[in-house]
Amino acid sequence: MRSISLHTPVSSLGGLFKRFLPALTRLGIKTVKDLLWHFPARYEDFSKITPVRDLVPGTSVTVRGKIVRISSRNAFRKGIRSVVEAEIEDDTGTVPAIWFNQPYASRSLKEGQIANFSGRVAKKKRGGLYLAQPAHETGARKTTHTARIVGVYPETRGITSKGLRRLVEMTLPKIGPEEWLPEEVSAKYDVPEMKNALREAHFPSSVESAGRARERFLFEELLLVHLANASRKMKLSESEAHSLHTDIDWLKGTLSGLPFELTESQKRSLWEIIKDIGRPHPMNRLLYGDVGSGKTVVAALAALIAAKNGLQSAFMAPTEILARQHFRTLSQLFSAIPERWQPPAGLLTSSEARVLYETDLETEVKKSDLAKKVLEGKLSIVVGTHTLIEKTIRFEKLGLVIVDEQHRFGVRQRAALLEKSGVVPHLLSMSATPIPRTLMLTVFGDLQHSRITELPKGRESIETTIVPPAKRSEVYDFVDKKLGEGRQAFVICPRISLPEENRSSHTQGRMETKAVEDEHKKLSEKIFPHRRIAALHGGMKSADKERIMNDFREGKTDILVSTSVVEVGVDIPNATIIMIEGSNRFGLAQLYQLRGRVGRGEHRSYCFLMTDSEEQTENARLQAIARAKNGLELAEEDLKLRGPGELLGEAQSGFSDLVTEALRHPRLVDTSRQAAEEILEKDPTLMRYPLLQERVKEFEKKVHRE
Ligand code: ADP
Ligand code: MG
Repeated sequence: MRSISLHTPVSSLGGLFKRFLPALTRLGIKTVKDLLWHFPARYEDFSKITPVRDLVPGTSVTVRGKIVRISSRNAFRKGIRSVVEAEIEDDTGTVPAIWFNQPYASRSLKEGQIANFSGRVAKKKRGGLYLAQPAHETGARKTTHTARIVGVYPETRGITSKGLRRLVEMTLPKIGPEEWLPEEVSAKYDVPEMKNALREAHFPSSVESAGRARERFLFEELLLVHLANASRKMKLSESEAHSLHTDIDWLKGTLSGLPFELTESQKRSLWEIIKDIGRPHPMNRLLYGDVGSGKTVVAALAALIAAKNGLQSAFMAPTEILARQHFRTLSQLFSAIPERWQPPAGLLTSSEARVLYETDLETEVKKSDLAKKVLEGKLSIVVGTHTLIEKTIRFEKLGLVIVDEQHRFGVRQRAALLEKSGVVPHLLSMSATPIPRTLMLTVFGDLQHSRITELPKGRESIETTIVPPAKRSEVYDFVDKKLGEGRQAFVICPRISLPEENRSSHTQGRMETKAVEDEHKKLSEKIFPHRRIAALHGGMKSADKERIMNDFREGKTDILVSTSVVEVGVDIPNATIIMIEGSNRFGLAQLYQLRGRVGRGEHRSYCFLMTDSEEQTENARLQAIARAKNGLELAEEDLKLRGPGELLGEAQSGFSDLVTEALRHPRLVDTSRQAAEEILEKDPTLMRYPLLQERVKEFEKKVHRE
């Protein structure tokens, strides 16, 4: 192989690379850098050679010995077509190594050879131990796969960890020193040099040094996040936006028409927004507040102000249900405006398009008609799901973009929206996701922050109880009593966990649907036959979902049995009870969002965390949620108590791997930010660090594409 750089495409490398190219492509590996930055998911320690005598079932070992016999045969058992078995002998005894469905295992091994075998020790059904499908290497040269700590890579079809190890081993020595971290940073923060770190990350000399190497790459990536944030901030501060004027008398009139008085922090946040959008540079602000703290009305007021200035707003919600709800909130807000001036508004989701004009009459329209109206500037505020950023939707004069729970949309979508107009629109994102403060400064580091710190007056905290199976019927009695008083209840069914291999979103969806349907049947036939009960899940037609939500909102049903489609944002103040079935299966942030569906009105609210066994009541996540009063408290406490893994729960949280990793290393989040600040202070444009500058640009491009 000729000399190569990190930019060299793997497709130009030939040899083994050629054979593995389709698999590499599937892994998203295009360049040498992609390959070298494709790190093991975990490590196995085969570094010590274990005498056969000392083998313990269930452990990972390396055995070094002579092959005294090797045989291969066909088999006709379920799933097993061939078996290769080798008898390995060392000074202390013999043990068989067995490979299923790997007929080629025998080709490279011969009787009489001495070799290393690394793998798991397993127990035979009829007693006795064997090495299960061990990796093997003959000869005494430096080993790659056995007798050392080896990396196990994220799996994919067409290439094994062994294959990846070989490619990395071939490539790594060929690259030059391409360290891009400034020397003073590496020295001050004790960051291992790049090439060494790469070697240690792929072929560690010890578990600790692998850890240190991996930290280097996390540090590096976090540093890039900070630098990219800073550069984006700078760019925005230099670009042009419409400066929006707010008529204070008009605003006062509008506020006094609202059915409630804004809380102090709602007022403060609104004021911060008003000042921002009054400037001729784009606002980039995060409105952060606990669930139920009233972010929507603040955002909607901002959209009204934009409309007053003759500019359009795009208001994006993460789900259809939520988009519809925001649309409704807007129309309620409109009727509070003193002179009944009402900007024309639209709703666009993948399944429907609606417009709302002065007459207060919602009408369904064709999507293409809505798109036309948006383009002609005839709609001032358009609420919608991600459909809003489809190519077909163009705004005439976009002044403000509002994104609810923005981390679900990701940076790319945001960028897409920002690009939809020549002059950069102002951006307001909203979030209630409990994440620790330091991390927030990283993930949302390019944003100004407004915080809503209190809940509207008269809200009581939600009484949260972990319910063991024996107490279930008491809870049903309690729920029935509350329904009798006119309240309503959510019953949330869990995600069903499936074995890894069939965890497609499709199967998952079906299983959840089934759980909802079964629960609905049980409740309406056995538990609450005298109550009106509806079921809701993601697989339903939009029109049905809407009808069911509307009925529940209008009090036509008492209980809504649902999947976590109601997780984010749904606001039904008369629903004061939420029962979360299989609660131990939900992530902490998700439980928190779910609980936030109640406690939104004047009545006292209750959250029941249902469990299927006595042990589950010990679940630390459940206990944390039962204890924590607000999201920030939850985030900080959780981080302190048990590390971050629990907080984000399943992959659905929508955060990148980087963020999840960063949560595990709060110290790196801090040091990397400090380093970024020091670099920028000396050299805001990174002129003195061309390699680093190039990396930041690449990073920005990558984030853009993702
Ligand atoms: P979130 O911040 O979770 O998005 P919402 O904006 O959905 O919360 O508001 C929750 C509920 O609180 C809504 O029914 C809203 O009308 C109501 N609300 C908002 N602000 C106030 C306030 N200042 N006083 C009373 N109720 C309010
Ligand atoms: Mg909300």
